[in-house]
Amino acid sequence: MTQPTAPQHMVIRFAPSPTGRLHVGHGWSALLAMDMARGAGGAFRLRIEDIDGTRSRPEHVAGIIEDLHWLGVEWDGDIVFQSQRLDSYDAALARLRDIGLLYPCFCTRADIQASLTAPHGPEGPLYPRTCHGLDAAERARRIAAGEAHAWRIDMARAVEQVGAPGWTSLPFPVQDGRTESVKADPLAHGDVVLARKDAPASYHLSCTLDDAAMGVTHVLRGLDLRGATDIHRLLQALLGLPSPAYVHHPLLVGPDGRRLAKRDGSIALADLRAQGVAPDALAADLRAQRFPIGIRLARA
Ligand code: GLU
Repeated sequence: MTQPTAPQHMVIRFAPSPTGRLHVGHGWSALLAMDMARGAGGAFRLRIEDIDGTRSRPEHVAGIIEDLHWLGVEWDGDIVFQSQRLDSYDAALARLRDIGLLYPCFCTRADIQASLTAPHGPEGPLYPRTCHGLDAAERARRIAAGEAHAWRIDMARAVEQVGAPGWTSLPFPVQDGRTESVKADPLAHGDVVLARKDAPASYHLSCTLDDAAMGVTHVLRGLDLRGATDIHRLLQALLGLPSPAYVHHPLLVGPDGRRLAKRDGSIALADLRAQGVAPDALAADLRAQRFPIGIRLARA
């Protein structure tokens, strides 16, 4: 007898990088994600993306946790730290390397910038595939000599294997049942880095693996990461991982029309707290899309 399938339990995560304190846009995003999960009787999880050795700081981890508690954002279960999941990133890299989809890249940022003819993708110049042409002996020699290298995916070959898979988008604001099917376009991003010279895994790889390991069913994040979804969907297809549904919310801009960034200290949640702003009132305002000090939603 077949068992009736249980309704899918919604799991949503908020996944800040501890490279600075949270700003109002992060607070809004976290509240949206928590409310969506709670509204569906699901779970809301917190993941700290702390494997960027050059920019992650332990004091920012503590600050982020403090900011979220202050704003009334509460998560379920333990916090997931990417720095404790390095083995799973290594295993996935080994698997992709074994099936011939990765190659070492010894180029420096300057090398890549110097190739002026490089075509552009959604996030800047596409990697001109300089190291793709190296032969196996030279790769082995340079690795053995300890030359710093990243690992890039051979995107054309990867797409050949799994095609360009589709993903499900829930348009923002999320309304019951409205979904769109989007065709991923991983080729537009070129041979992206999956393991960095200075970090054990790139954002694309760690995020994709963690979402699957945490059973994330819905990813809610800013529109700036919509393009990344093409890459995440491809990695899911290659690694046999389930694909969550994606919601990309608009970004906030400051009075100058520029996107909020951690460098704009004036709109950090910690500063609002220091100014005596009441967290309940701020959370209510953010939920109603009334943003403080000239901040507004960017036009899509
Ligand atoms: N850690 C990323 C950031 O702070 C967000 C990752 C995601 O939501 O997929 O921008």
